[in-house]
Amino acid sequence: MSKAFNQCSLYLRPARHDFTLDDLELFTAELRNIQLISKTIDKQSNSYYTGDNYLDYIAYMGCAPNIKFKADPNSKNNNENFCQITLHQYKSPHLIVSQKQASAPLCPNCKNPIRDWQENKTSTTIQCPLCSNTTNINDLNWRKMAGCAQLFIEISDIFPKEALPQQSLLDKLKDITNTDWLYFYSCR
Ligand SMILES: [Zn+2]
Repeated sequence: MSKAFNQCSLYLRPARHDFTLDDLELFTAELRNIQLISKTIDKQSNSYYTGDNYLDYIAYMGCAPNIKFKADPNSKNNNENFCQITLHQYKSPHLIVSQKQASAPLCPNCKNPIRDWQENKTSTTIQCPLCSNTTNINDLNWRKMAGCAQLFIEISDIFPKEALPQQSLLDKLKDITNTDWLYFYSCR
């Protein structure tokens, strides 16, 4: 696989873009409890090894996917290019958008892709150059290639559509947080 492929992630996020957790430690304990995650890789960056139930929650397409759950012992940088889970929480809604494999968001008014959205963007809205309609970033259809939220669960080393979160995981996240969850992919 090319380097670009290795820098893609699957992201889970609350549907509400302003949802935050008061206690990230408690959330971590819950994720460990359902065995989505296991041991801590790095406390500072909130990164974890996958748990025993990981493959029940995330379904890989195709047969015999080659998933790396640990760093290559020969790798110089132990933290790169294997399947690990990282929690991100931001003080205000944060847009994670794919740099590679990007797809333009669809304008909800005229239904056209907003190709030059980066040039028509404020911190919270994007204006469609075709119909001049202004839409909140969170209300755009990013076609699963971006997401705006304050909380994210990043599962690294997954190429777009290579793996899908199962309903059982989305249900468990909803039970834990009392809010609905969505997912998208992003490549650096
Ligand atoms: Zn439009």
